[in-house]
Amino acid sequence: MMDENNELFYEDAYRTSFEATVTACEKDGKGYAVLLDRTAFYPEGGGQPYDTGFLDDVRVREVHRRNGAIVHYTDGALAVGKTVTGRIDFERRFDLMQQHSGEHVFSGLVHRFFGYDNIGFHLGEKEVVLDFSGPLDPGQVRMIEEKTNAMIQKNIAVEAFYPSEEELAELEYRSKKELEGKVRIVRIQDCDVCACCGTHVKNIGEVGYAKVISLMNKRGNARIGVLFGRRATEYMAKIYDQTSEVSALLSKSPLEIAQGVRHLQKEATDKTVALNLLYTRQFQRLLQEAEPCDLYITVEEGCSMDLLRHFCDAMTAKARVCAGLLKKGEEDYQYVILSASADLKECSKLLNERFAGKGGGSKQMIQGSLHGSDTEIKVFLHELFC
Ligand SMILES: [Zn+2]
Repeated sequence: MMDENNELFYEDAYRTSFEATVTACEKDGKGYAVLLDRTAFYPEGGGQPYDTGFLDDVRVREVHRRNGAIVHYTDGALAVGKTVTGRIDFERRFDLMQQHSGEHVFSGLVHRFFGYDNIGFHLGEKEVVLDFSGPLDPGQVRMIEEKTNAMIQKNIAVEAFYPSEEELAELEYRSKKELEGKVRIVRIQDCDVCACCGTHVKNIGEVGYAKVISLMNKRGNARIGVLFGRRATEYMAKIYDQTSEVSALLSKSPLEIAQGVRHLQKEATDKTVALNLLYTRQFQRLLQEAEPCDLYITVEEGCSMDLLRHFCDAMTAKARVCAGLLKKGEEDYQYVILSASADLKECSKLLNERFAGKGGGSKQMIQGSLHGSDTEIKVFLHELFC
């Protein structure tokens, strides 16, 4: 059993290496389970993932607290009684500290301004996901994000301490569950007081930057995705790259791209309306000119499938079978075939086989996609229906 005196991450969250004696090593489903007389490896807990690293040259893959002991799951065996040097992957740990300390500021501010509790905290590989006990709108979330960044810039110290029972009774603090035994409090002045067993940055300025990347309200609770520190700056760099590309494509400044896209959307809608009008006129003319026949085939490009289907449906007044092919690529077609009297189910099967097609339908209407030349498809349909 280890007490907090031997849990070196509480003494100094920046300690990256340490010496310790192996007190147990057993083969385990996860490799080897190694116990030490002291450790700087943080075990998974309080929403914060475990550290990874090395004990001498043996890789530490996972670290968990089991029955009060901190178990290091390693790739290789270590002799009991041996003194080993532990090294923490500090890049990983520091990232987790940035996320965890940032989360305290963010959740603390949500609690202070809206009175909501943090009812879920998941520190994932990509983002921190926070659930709050009430709804938040985008404006409120932006306000919390701004206040979080302002707090980060104040660079206030993050204090961790174990208050006495009397002090604890006096203290107002956030807590995710009913706590037993010695409670560790993490305090950021003017911002948050919270019971927590995780590792934190020394001064909140080290969190660097906070960026909310998603908001969803579900069953009266808000779920927020947020990034801190390097995760946030890397995300913003990617956003910048995307924005620059779109900005160049639109010949608009990066701050006007939404306006540029709206303009493009309107242009596209106007063109579709004009095109549909032209097609509607052309189809009316074709309908008037058509003579009664067994099979009518039209090959089109650029109109909507809906319009083509309507036309083919109307044409079944003159043709026993009417097929519409819509060119989608060099030898790619979407098709719709309608008939008032013929059974088309077999036709759909044969088309799929012959032209690597996908699709089906009913006796009266089949549709799908085909690969082949329109000449071949036409010949095939003539052989079937004429
Ligand atoms: Zn915490």
